[in-house]
Amino acid sequence: MTADLTRPDSVRDAAVSGVPAALADLGSLVRIPSIAFPGFDRAEVQRSAEAVKALADGLGIFDAVTIADAAIPGTDERGMPAVLASRAARNGKPTILLYAHHDVQPVGDDALWESPPFEPTVRDGRLYGRGAADDKAGVMVHIGALRALKEALGDDFDLGVALFIEGEEEAGSRSFAQFLSDHSDALRADVIVVADSGNWDQKTPALTVSLRGNTRFTLKVRTLDHASHSGMFGGAVPDAMMATVRLLDTLWDADGTVAVEGLATRDAATPEYSEETLRDEAGLPAGVAPIGRGPILGRIWNQPSITVTGVDAPTVVNASNTLSPEISVVVSARVAPGQVAREAYEAIERHLRAHAPFGAELEFRDVDFGDGFLVDTSGWAVGAVREAFHEGYGVEPVDIGVGGSIPFIADLVQTFPSAQILVTGVEDPHARAHSPNESLHLETFRNALVSEALLLEKLDARPA
Ligand SMILES: [Zn+2]
Repeated sequence: MTADLTRPDSVRDAAVSGVPAALADLGSLVRIPSIAFPGFDRAEVQRSAEAVKALADGLGIFDAVTIADAAIPGTDERGMPAVLASRAARNGKPTILLYAHHDVQPVGDDALWESPPFEPTVRDGRLYGRGAADDKAGVMVHIGALRALKEALGDDFDLGVALFIEGEEEAGSRSFAQFLSDHSDALRADVIVVADSGNWDQKTPALTVSLRGNTRFTLKVRTLDHASHSGMFGGAVPDAMMATVRLLDTLWDADGTVAVEGLATRDAATPEYSEETLRDEAGLPAGVAPIGRGPILGRIWNQPSITVTGVDAPTVVNASNTLSPEISVVVSARVAPGQVAREAYEAIERHLRAHAPFGAELEFRDVDFGDGFLVDTSGWAVGAVREAFHEGYGVEPVDIGVGGSIPFIADLVQTFPSAQILVTGVEDPHARAHSPNESLHLETFRNALVSEALLLEKLDARPA
Protein backbone atom coordinates (compact mmCIF):
# COMPACT_ATOMS: atom_id res chain seq x y z
CA MET A 1 0.00 0.00 0.00
CA THR A 2 1.52 3.30 -0.99
CA ALA A 3 1.20 6.48 0.99
CA ASP A 4 -0.67 8.07 -1.91
CA LEU A 5 -3.52 5.58 -1.63
CA THR A 6 -4.09 6.32 2.02
CA ARG A 7 -3.92 10.09 1.83
CA PRO A 8 -7.57 10.82 0.90
CA ASP A 9 -8.81 8.33 3.48
CA SER A 10 -6.71 9.78 6.25
CA VAL A 11 -7.82 13.30 5.32
CA ARG A 12 -11.45 12.19 5.36
CA ASP A 13 -11.03 10.51 8.77
CA ALA A 14 -9.41 13.62 10.20
CA ALA A 15 -12.17 15.82 8.75
CA VAL A 16 -14.97 13.68 10.18
CA SER A 17 -13.42 13.48 13.62
CA GLY A 18 -12.83 17.24 13.60
CA VAL A 19 -16.50 18.13 13.10
CA PRO A 20 -17.46 18.40 16.81
CA ALA A 21 -14.56 20.78 17.50
CA ALA A 22 -15.45 22.84 14.43
CA LEU A 23 -19.05 23.10 15.64
CA ALA A 24 -17.90 24.18 19.09
CA ASP A 25 -15.77 26.92 17.53
CA LEU A 26 -18.68 27.90 15.32
CA GLY A 27 -20.80 28.31 18.44
CA SER A 28 -18.21 30.66 19.93
CA LEU A 29 -18.20 32.76 16.75
CA VAL A 30 -22.01 32.92 16.69
CA ARG A 31 -21.94 34.44 20.21
CA ILE A 32 -20.22 37.55 18.84
CA PRO A 33 -22.73 40.02 17.31
CA SER A 34 -20.42 41.09 14.49
CA ILE A 35 -22.78 43.38 12.59
CA ALA A 36 -20.87 45.71 10.27
CA PHE A 37 -23.81 48.03 9.51
CA PRO A 38 -23.65 51.72 10.42
CA GLY A 39 -24.96 52.30 13.93
CA PHE A 40 -23.70 48.96 15.31
CA ASP A 41 -20.64 48.51 17.51
CA ARG A 42 -17.50 48.16 15.39
CA ALA A 43 -15.71 46.72 18.45
CA GLU A 44 -17.78 43.53 18.02
CA VAL A 45 -16.59 43.15 14.43
CA GLN A 46 -13.04 43.63 15.70
CA ARG A 47 -13.63 41.00 18.42
CA SER A 48 -14.97 38.61 15.81
CA ALA A 49 -11.91 39.23 13.60
CA GLU A 50 -9.65 38.49 16.58
CA ALA A 51 -11.50 35.22 17.23
CA VAL A 52 -11.06 34.20 13.58
CA LYS A 53 -7.39 35.21 13.67
CA ALA A 54 -6.88 32.99 16.74
CA LEU A 55 -8.39 30.07 14.82
CA ALA A 56 -6.07 30.74 11.85
CA ASP A 57 -3.04 31.09 14.15
CA GLY A 58 -4.00 27.83 15.84
CA LEU A 59 -3.61 25.96 12.56
CA GLY A 60 0.14 26.56 12.60
CA ILE A 61 0.38 26.36 8.82
CA PHE A 62 0.59 30.00 7.80
CA ASP A 63 3.63 32.18 7.18
CA ALA A 64 1.63 35.19 8.38
CA VAL A 65 -1.79 35.88 9.91
CA THR A 66 -3.01 39.47 10.20
CA ILE A 67 -6.08 41.56 10.80
CA ALA A 68 -6.31 44.34 8.24
CA ASP A 69 -8.71 46.91 6.89
CA ALA A 70 -8.65 49.01 3.74
CA ALA A 71 -9.74 52.50 2.76
CA ILE A 72 -13.23 52.97 1.36
CA PRO A 73 -12.60 54.78 -1.94
CA GLY A 74 -14.15 58.22 -2.20
CA THR A 75 -14.47 58.61 1.58
CA ASP A 76 -12.10 59.12 4.51
CA GLU A 77 -13.50 56.02 6.21
CA ARG A 78 -11.84 52.63 6.67
CA GLY A 79 -13.55 49.34 5.95
CA MET A 80 -14.21 46.68 8.58
CA PRO A 81 -11.44 44.37 9.85
CA ALA A 82 -10.74 41.28 7.75
CA VAL A 83 -8.50 38.34 8.56
CA LEU A 84 -5.81 37.52 6.06
CA ALA A 85 -3.48 34.53 6.33
CA SER A 86 -1.12 33.09 3.77
CA ARG A 87 1.30 30.29 3.19
CA ALA A 88 3.43 30.08 0.06
CA ALA A 89 3.13 27.07 -2.25
CA ARG A 90 6.11 24.76 -2.53
CA ASN A 91 7.42 22.56 -5.32
CA GLY A 92 5.28 24.17 -8.01
CA LYS A 93 1.96 23.21 -6.38
CA PRO A 94 -1.11 25.41 -6.80
CA THR A 95 -2.30 28.04 -4.35
CA ILE A 96 -5.88 28.11 -3.13
CA LEU A 97 -7.66 31.15 -1.70
CA LEU A 98 -10.43 30.36 0.77
CA TYR A 99 -13.00 33.14 1.20
CA ALA A 100 -15.82 33.56 3.73
CA HIS A 101 -17.08 36.46 5.85
CA HIS A 102 -17.32 36.84 9.61
CA ASP A 103 -19.80 39.72 9.73
CA VAL A 104 -23.52 39.03 9.97
CA GLN A 105 -26.86 40.64 9.20
CA PRO A 106 -28.71 42.56 11.93
CA VAL A 107 -31.25 40.36 13.72
CA GLY A 108 -34.41 42.35 13.03
CA ASP A 109 -37.28 41.83 15.46
CA ASP A 110 -35.94 39.83 18.45
CA ALA A 111 -39.44 38.57 19.22
CA LEU A 112 -39.49 36.55 15.98
CA TRP A 113 -36.56 34.39 17.12
CA GLU A 114 -37.43 31.11 18.83
CA SER A 115 -34.07 31.16 20.64
CA PRO A 116 -31.86 34.23 21.16
CA PRO A 117 -30.00 35.08 17.93
CA PHE A 118 -26.53 35.14 19.51
CA GLU A 119 -27.10 32.05 21.67
CA PRO A 120 -26.17 29.05 19.47
CA THR A 121 -28.90 26.44 19.96
CA VAL A 122 -29.30 22.98 18.43
CA ARG A 123 -32.82 21.79 17.57
CA ASP A 124 -33.79 18.94 15.24
CA GLY A 125 -30.44 18.56 13.54
CA ARG A 126 -29.95 22.27 13.00
CA LEU A 127 -27.82 24.90 14.73
CA TYR A 128 -29.80 28.12 15.20
CA GLY A 129 -28.26 31.56 15.52
CA ARG A 130 -27.41 34.67 13.51
CA GLY A 131 -24.45 33.78 11.30
CA ALA A 132 -24.75 30.05 12.08
CA ALA A 133 -25.12 29.51 8.34
CA ASP A 134 -24.26 32.86 6.69
CA ASP A 135 -21.38 32.82 6.90
CA LYS A 136 -19.63 31.75 10.08
CA ALA A 137 -20.26 28.16 8.96
CA GLY A 138 -18.28 29.05 5.82
CA VAL A 139 -15.43 30.27 8.04
CA MET A 140 -15.47 27.01 9.99
CA VAL A 141 -15.61 24.82 6.88
CA HIS A 142 -12.34 26.43 5.79
CA ILE A 143 -10.73 26.13 9.23
CA GLY A 144 -11.98 22.56 9.70
CA ALA A 145 -10.79 21.46 6.25
CA LEU A 146 -7.34 22.96 6.85
CA ARG A 147 -7.14 21.29 10.27
CA ALA A 148 -7.91 17.93 8.64
CA LEU A 149 -5.24 18.46 5.98
CA LYS A 150 -2.66 19.38 8.60
CA GLU A 151 -3.61 16.50 10.89
CA ALA A 152 -3.50 13.92 8.12
CA LEU A 153 -0.43 15.18 6.26
CA GLY A 154 1.50 16.96 9.00
CA ASP A 155 3.60 19.73 7.56
CA ASP A 156 4.14 17.53 4.57
CA PHE A 157 1.92 19.41 2.15
CA ASP A 158 2.97 21.78 -0.57
CA LEU A 159 -0.31 23.47 -1.35
CA GLY A 160 -0.20 27.25 -1.10
CA VAL A 161 -3.08 28.60 1.00
CA ALA A 162 -4.50 32.06 1.45
CA LEU A 163 -7.36 32.56 3.88
CA PHE A 164 -9.42 35.72 3.51
CA ILE A 165 -12.27 36.23 5.97
CA GLU A 166 -14.01 39.50 5.17
CA GLY A 167 -15.67 41.67 7.81
CA GLU A 168 -18.23 43.68 5.82
CA GLU A 169 -19.88 41.44 3.21
CA GLU A 170 -23.38 41.98 4.53
CA ALA A 171 -22.77 45.72 4.67
CA GLY A 172 -21.86 46.01 0.99
CA SER A 173 -18.13 45.15 0.82
CA ARG A 174 -17.30 48.82 0.35
CA SER A 175 -13.54 48.43 0.82
CA PHE A 176 -13.32 45.02 -0.89
CA ALA A 177 -11.76 46.09 -4.19
CA GLN A 178 -9.27 48.29 -2.34
CA PHE A 179 -8.43 45.40 0.00
CA LEU A 180 -7.75 43.14 -2.99
CA SER A 181 -5.39 45.64 -4.54
CA ASP A 182 -3.62 46.39 -1.21
CA HIS A 183 -3.01 42.66 -0.62
CA SER A 184 -2.90 41.27 -4.13
CA ASP A 185 0.36 39.38 -3.53
CA ALA A 186 -0.92 37.59 -0.44
CA LEU A 187 -4.26 36.83 -2.12
CA ARG A 188 -3.09 35.71 -5.56
CA ALA A 189 -4.21 32.14 -6.20
CA ASP A 190 -4.88 29.57 -8.89
CA VAL A 191 -8.19 28.54 -7.36
CA ILE A 192 -10.57 30.63 -5.26
CA VAL A 193 -13.25 28.98 -3.13
CA VAL A 194 -16.06 31.36 -2.11
CA ALA A 195 -17.98 29.54 0.63
CA ASP A 196 -21.01 31.82 0.82
CA SER A 197 -23.72 30.21 -1.30
CA GLY A 198 -26.15 27.31 -0.99
CA ASN A 199 -26.91 23.75 -1.94
CA TRP A 200 -29.72 22.14 -3.92
CA ASP A 201 -31.26 20.50 -0.84
CA GLN A 202 -30.22 18.90 2.44
CA LYS A 203 -28.67 15.89 0.70
CA THR A 204 -27.44 17.27 -2.60
CA PRO A 205 -24.43 19.56 -2.90
CA ALA A 206 -24.31 22.27 -5.52
CA LEU A 207 -21.71 24.27 -7.35
CA THR A 208 -23.00 27.76 -8.06
CA VAL A 209 -22.16 28.38 -11.72
CA SER A 210 -24.06 31.58 -12.37
CA LEU A 211 -25.21 34.63 -10.46
CA ARG A 212 -27.41 37.42 -11.75
CA GLY A 213 -26.05 40.94 -11.62
CA ASN A 214 -28.04 43.86 -10.30
CA THR A 215 -28.71 47.52 -10.85
CA ARG A 216 -30.67 49.90 -8.69
CA PHE A 217 -31.54 53.55 -9.09
CA THR A 218 -33.93 56.26 -8.00
CA LEU A 219 -36.20 57.75 -10.66
CA LYS A 220 -37.99 61.06 -10.19
CA VAL A 221 -40.97 61.72 -12.48
CA ARG A 222 -42.08 65.33 -12.72
CA THR A 223 -45.05 66.75 -14.63
CA LEU A 224 -45.97 70.02 -12.91
CA ASP A 225 -44.16 73.02 -11.39
CA HIS A 226 -46.34 72.82 -8.30
CA ALA A 227 -49.28 70.94 -6.83
CA SER A 228 -52.75 72.04 -7.88
CA HIS A 229 -56.35 71.35 -6.94
CA SER A 230 -57.40 68.18 -8.73
CA GLY A 231 -60.85 69.65 -9.41
CA MET A 232 -59.51 72.81 -11.00
CA PHE A 233 -57.08 71.20 -13.46
CA GLY A 234 -57.69 67.44 -13.26
CA GLY A 235 -58.51 66.11 -16.70
CA ALA A 236 -56.47 68.78 -18.46
CA VAL A 237 -52.92 68.33 -17.09
CA PRO A 238 -51.16 65.08 -16.14
CA ASP A 239 -50.24 64.52 -12.51
CA ALA A 240 -46.97 62.79 -11.69
CA MET A 241 -48.64 59.67 -10.28
CA MET A 242 -50.52 59.05 -13.50
CA ALA A 243 -47.34 59.51 -15.52
CA THR A 244 -45.38 57.24 -13.15
CA VAL A 245 -47.95 54.44 -13.19
CA ARG A 246 -48.19 54.50 -16.98
CA LEU A 247 -44.42 54.69 -17.37
CA LEU A 248 -43.68 51.83 -14.98
CA ASP A 249 -46.33 49.70 -16.66
CA THR A 250 -44.29 49.73 -19.89
CA LEU A 251 -41.49 47.81 -18.12
CA TRP A 252 -43.41 44.51 -18.28
CA ASP A 253 -45.54 42.57 -20.75
CA ALA A 254 -49.02 41.54 -19.68
CA ASP A 255 -47.66 38.24 -18.23
CA GLY A 256 -45.03 40.03 -16.15
CA THR A 257 -42.06 39.28 -18.42
CA VAL A 258 -39.60 42.19 -18.59
CA ALA A 259 -40.26 44.19 -21.79
CA VAL A 260 -37.14 46.34 -22.02
CA GLU A 261 -35.20 46.18 -25.26
CA GLY A 262 -31.49 45.60 -24.71
CA LEU A 263 -31.80 43.44 -21.60
CA ALA A 264 -30.21 40.07 -22.28
CA THR A 265 -31.47 36.60 -21.41
CA ARG A 266 -29.05 33.74 -20.98
CA ASP A 267 -29.86 30.62 -22.91
CA ALA A 268 -29.15 27.67 -20.60
CA ALA A 269 -30.96 24.59 -19.39
CA THR A 270 -32.24 24.46 -15.81
CA PRO A 271 -33.30 21.57 -13.55
CA GLU A 272 -36.96 20.69 -13.10
CA TYR A 273 -38.71 22.85 -10.49
CA SER A 274 -42.47 22.69 -10.12
CA GLU A 275 -44.97 25.52 -9.77
CA GLU A 276 -46.08 23.82 -6.56
CA THR A 277 -42.57 24.13 -5.07
CA LEU A 278 -42.41 27.74 -6.19
CA ARG A 279 -45.74 28.47 -4.48
CA ASP A 280 -44.53 26.79 -1.30
CA GLU A 281 -41.05 28.38 -1.14
CA ALA A 282 -42.09 31.88 -2.25
CA GLY A 283 -45.40 32.02 -0.37
CA LEU A 284 -47.55 32.50 -3.50
CA PRO A 285 -51.26 31.98 -2.70
CA ALA A 286 -53.36 29.60 -4.82
CA GLY A 287 -55.30 32.33 -6.62
CA VAL A 288 -52.28 34.43 -7.64
CA ALA A 289 -50.50 33.49 -10.88
CA PRO A 290 -46.73 33.26 -11.24
CA ILE A 291 -45.21 35.70 -13.75
CA GLY A 292 -42.88 35.25 -16.70
CA ARG A 293 -42.29 32.63 -19.37
CA GLY A 294 -40.24 29.50 -19.81
CA PRO A 295 -38.95 27.07 -17.17
CA ILE A 296 -39.37 28.54 -13.68
CA LEU A 297 -35.71 28.33 -12.67
CA GLY A 298 -34.75 29.83 -16.03
CA ARG A 299 -36.84 32.89 -15.14
CA ILE A 300 -34.99 33.25 -11.83
CA TRP A 301 -31.48 32.28 -12.89
CA ASN A 302 -31.20 33.39 -16.51
CA GLN A 303 -33.71 36.14 -17.25
CA PRO A 304 -33.73 39.77 -16.09
CA SER A 305 -36.31 40.97 -13.59
CA ILE A 306 -37.44 44.44 -12.56
CA THR A 307 -38.96 45.31 -9.19
CA VAL A 308 -40.14 48.66 -7.86
CA THR A 309 -38.92 48.56 -4.27
CA GLY A 310 -39.87 51.99 -2.96
CA VAL A 311 -42.16 54.94 -3.72
CA ASP A 312 -42.10 58.52 -2.40
CA ALA A 313 -45.61 59.85 -2.90
CA PRO A 314 -48.26 61.39 -0.66
CA THR A 315 -49.28 58.81 1.94
CA VAL A 316 -52.81 57.50 2.28
CA VAL A 317 -53.36 59.37 5.51
CA ASN A 318 -52.16 62.64 3.95
CA ALA A 319 -54.01 62.24 0.66
CA SER A 320 -55.76 65.42 -0.43
CA ASN A 321 -57.54 66.24 -3.68
CA THR A 322 -54.33 67.36 -5.29
CA LEU A 323 -52.42 66.74 -8.52
CA SER A 324 -48.96 65.54 -7.42
CA PRO A 325 -46.19 67.46 -9.20
CA GLU A 326 -43.51 64.79 -8.72
CA ILE A 327 -43.11 61.16 -7.60
CA SER A 328 -39.91 59.24 -6.87
CA VAL A 329 -39.49 55.48 -7.11
CA VAL A 330 -36.63 53.07 -6.53
CA VAL A 331 -36.20 50.57 -9.34
CA SER A 332 -34.20 47.43 -8.59
CA ALA A 333 -33.38 45.13 -11.48
CA ARG A 334 -31.65 41.76 -11.72
CA VAL A 335 -29.45 41.32 -14.75
CA ALA A 336 -28.99 38.04 -16.62
CA PRO A 337 -25.57 36.46 -16.03
CA GLY A 338 -23.27 37.40 -18.88
CA GLN A 339 -24.63 40.92 -19.39
CA VAL A 340 -22.60 43.84 -18.03
CA ALA A 341 -24.73 45.51 -15.35
CA ARG A 342 -23.95 49.05 -16.55
CA GLU A 343 -25.18 48.10 -20.03
CA ALA A 344 -28.41 46.76 -18.50
CA TYR A 345 -28.88 49.98 -16.55
CA GLU A 346 -28.39 52.02 -19.73
CA ALA A 347 -31.00 49.92 -21.54
CA ILE A 348 -33.53 50.55 -18.75
CA GLU A 349 -32.79 54.28 -18.68
CA ARG A 350 -33.15 54.44 -22.48
CA HIS A 351 -36.45 52.59 -22.30
CA LEU A 352 -37.85 54.89 -19.61
CA ARG A 353 -36.80 58.04 -21.46
CA ALA A 354 -38.35 56.73 -24.68
CA HIS A 355 -41.63 55.88 -22.94
CA ALA A 356 -42.08 58.92 -20.68
CA PRO A 357 -45.78 59.74 -21.11
CA PHE A 358 -46.87 63.30 -21.87
CA GLY A 359 -43.24 64.39 -22.06
CA ALA A 360 -42.84 63.97 -18.29
CA GLU A 361 -39.41 65.07 -17.00
CA LEU A 362 -37.28 62.18 -15.68
CA GLU A 363 -34.32 62.40 -13.35
CA PHE A 364 -32.10 59.42 -12.54
CA ARG A 365 -29.90 59.34 -9.44
CA ASP A 366 -28.18 57.03 -6.91
CA VAL A 367 -27.38 54.59 -9.69
CA ASP A 368 -25.68 51.46 -8.45
CA PHE A 369 -24.70 48.26 -10.19
CA GLY A 370 -22.90 44.98 -9.66
CA ASP A 371 -22.01 42.49 -12.36
CA GLY A 372 -23.25 38.93 -12.43
CA PHE A 373 -21.01 35.95 -12.81
CA LEU A 374 -20.66 32.88 -15.00
CA VAL A 375 -18.23 30.15 -14.04
CA ASP A 376 -16.04 28.79 -16.77
CA THR A 377 -16.85 25.14 -16.01
CA SER A 378 -14.09 23.86 -18.28
CA GLY A 379 -11.33 24.51 -15.72
CA TRP A 380 -9.62 21.57 -13.98
CA ALA A 381 -10.63 22.86 -10.55
CA VAL A 382 -14.33 22.46 -11.40
CA GLY A 383 -13.72 18.76 -12.07
CA ALA A 384 -11.82 18.47 -8.79
CA VAL A 385 -14.54 20.13 -6.71
CA ARG A 386 -17.28 18.02 -8.32
CA GLU A 387 -15.36 14.87 -7.39
CA ALA A 388 -14.79 16.16 -3.86
CA PHE A 389 -18.51 16.92 -3.48
CA HIS A 390 -19.44 13.45 -4.69
CA GLU A 391 -17.03 11.85 -2.24
CA GLY A 392 -17.95 14.13 0.66
CA TYR A 393 -21.75 14.00 0.31
CA GLY A 394 -22.08 10.60 -1.35
CA VAL A 395 -24.34 12.22 -3.97
CA GLU A 396 -23.57 13.71 -7.40
CA PRO A 397 -23.51 17.52 -7.17
CA VAL A 398 -25.73 19.69 -9.35
CA ASP A 399 -24.85 22.98 -11.01
CA ILE A 400 -27.09 25.78 -9.85
CA GLY A 401 -27.66 29.37 -10.75
CA VAL A 402 -28.53 31.95 -8.15
CA GLY A 403 -31.03 34.71 -8.79
CA GLY A 404 -29.32 36.98 -6.28
CA SER A 405 -26.01 38.74 -6.68
CA ILE A 406 -22.59 38.58 -5.02
CA PRO A 407 -21.10 41.71 -6.58
CA PHE A 408 -17.66 41.26 -5.02
CA ILE A 409 -17.09 38.20 -7.20
CA ALA A 410 -16.77 40.57 -10.15
CA ASP A 411 -13.98 42.33 -8.20
CA LEU A 412 -12.23 38.97 -7.74
CA VAL A 413 -12.51 38.21 -11.45
CA GLN A 414 -11.14 41.63 -12.34
CA THR A 415 -8.21 41.49 -9.91
CA PHE A 416 -7.32 37.84 -10.54
CA PRO A 417 -8.48 37.11 -14.10
CA SER A 418 -6.66 33.81 -14.39
CA ALA A 419 -7.94 32.29 -11.13
CA GLN A 420 -10.62 29.60 -11.25
CA ILE A 421 -13.47 30.66 -8.96
CA LEU A 422 -15.57 28.00 -7.23
CA VAL A 423 -18.70 29.24 -5.47
CA THR A 424 -19.76 26.74 -2.80
CA GLY A 425 -21.55 27.03 0.51
CA VAL A 426 -23.16 25.41 3.51
CA GLU A 427 -26.67 26.78 3.23
CA ASP A 428 -29.67 24.64 2.32
CA PRO A 429 -33.13 25.88 1.24
CA HIS A 430 -34.26 26.10 4.88
CA ALA A 431 -31.30 28.10 6.22
CA ARG A 432 -33.23 31.42 6.29
CA ALA A 433 -30.09 33.49 5.93
CA HIS A 434 -30.75 37.18 6.76
CA SER A 435 -34.06 36.23 8.42
CA PRO A 436 -35.13 35.39 11.97
CA ASN A 437 -34.34 31.80 13.00
CA GLU A 438 -31.37 31.46 10.66
CA SER A 439 -29.95 27.98 11.00
CA LEU A 440 -27.35 25.54 9.75
CA HIS A 441 -28.21 21.98 8.77
CA LEU A 442 -25.62 20.00 10.74
CA GLU A 443 -25.31 17.12 8.27
CA THR A 444 -24.74 19.59 5.43
CA PHE A 445 -22.02 21.28 7.50
CA ARG A 446 -20.27 17.96 8.08
CA ASN A 447 -20.46 17.00 4.41
CA ALA A 448 -19.28 20.44 3.27
CA LEU A 449 -16.31 20.29 5.63
CA VAL A 450 -15.33 16.78 4.50
CA SER A 451 -15.72 17.76 0.83
CA GLU A 452 -13.50 20.80 1.19
CA ALA A 453 -10.83 18.79 3.01
CA LEU A 454 -10.90 16.26 0.15
CA LEU A 455 -10.63 19.12 -2.37
CA LEU A 456 -7.54 20.47 -0.59
CA GLU A 457 -6.00 17.00 -0.66
CA LYS A 458 -6.65 16.70 -4.41
CA LEU A 459 -5.07 20.07 -5.12
CA ASP A 460 -2.04 19.21 -3.03
CA ALA A 461 -1.69 15.89 -4.84
CA ARG A 462 -1.94 17.53 -8.27
CA PRO A 463 1.21 16.90 -10.30
CA ALA A 464 3.35 20.00 -10.33
ZN1 LIG B 1 -23.05 35.63 3.20
